[in-house]
Amino acid sequence: MQVRTVAGPVDPDTLGATLMHEHVLALVPGRFFTGGRYDDAVEAAERALGGLSEHGVGAVVDLTGRTQVGSGPDIAALREISARTGIAIVAGAGLYKEPFPGWVEAAAVDEVADRFVAMAADAGIFGEVGTSLDVVTAAEEKCLRAAVRAHRRTGLGISTHCTLGAMAREQVAIMASEGADLRRVVIGHLDLAPDLPYLEEVLATGVTIAFDTFGKEWFDYQVPGSEGQGGGEFVKWAYHRPDSDRFAALITLLERGYAAQLVLSSDISGREAYLNPDTHGRHGYSFVHAVVLPALRAAGVGADSIQQMLVHNPARILTIP
Ligand SMILES: [Zn+2]
Repeated sequence: MQVRTVAGPVDPDTLGATLMHEHVLALVPGRFFTGGRYDDAVEAAERALGGLSEHGVGAVVDLTGRTQVGSGPDIAALREISARTGIAIVAGAGLYKEPFPGWVEAAAVDEVADRFVAMAADAGIFGEVGTSLDVVTAAEEKCLRAAVRAHRRTGLGISTHCTLGAMAREQVAIMASEGADLRRVVIGHLDLAPDLPYLEEVLATGVTIAFDTFGKEWFDYQVPGSEGQGGGEFVKWAYHRPDSDRFAALITLLERGYAAQLVLSSDISGREAYLNPDTHGRHGYSFVHAVVLPALRAAGVGADSIQQMLVHNPARILTIP
């Protein structure tokens, strides 16, 4: 009964508070933002994670999965970051969402599952495995099924990506039909669709849902099919997801007794950190602990609920049976 971190297996009780959806190697947004001063991804992560221990955070789950250069997560870099910071890092494995690498289209579900198992040799969870905005494409369904088959073979949990919080019910239906252990499945980014009847319908299936984009209030999304319409500008939809809506939905769900099915994170990448000086630019990875938790406590959320979301639920999802 252990959790597989990038530094090897550990006892689940040693993790402490765990941020369940981050991308610690995506903190270098390029010379435009950094002036070329902070272009080393490992150094950037070391600095960004530096303040977490004093908040009691012991672990971070990195759901980047397949890297641009290789076929699995960059375990060596994550291991170096973990060694420098003392924060345990659990790596995700698998494929994200469309567009996929070319081999996926012709592959059978079991072939994709074989690849996922191979990618997960040093990983501790599958994810983020995702779906597009308001649609589950055929290839995305194939990858979700493959993730469940790989989960059943390896015992690793699963964490998903719902674009703007959509398609959670469809994801759960697909995974349930493959026999997933839904107690160890996290449906991601549902704080982007903080509609209570929708969230309770998903929670009724037994999965855990993630409020994992705290502090990300604005999204630009390129309109599909508009690629290549000139240089510079692109045709976009803009979305506003204020934290006040996240708090309202989360507090109500806690009042209704769902603490055992909720996890928290902030899904930071370099652009969010640099473009939002009041949120991630100021607090970085401490945003959940420095801003979110005090607001929950002020609203009457008890220490046991906070412990459940940050410590017990991550341990359950990450512990390989
Ligand atoms: Zn995501």
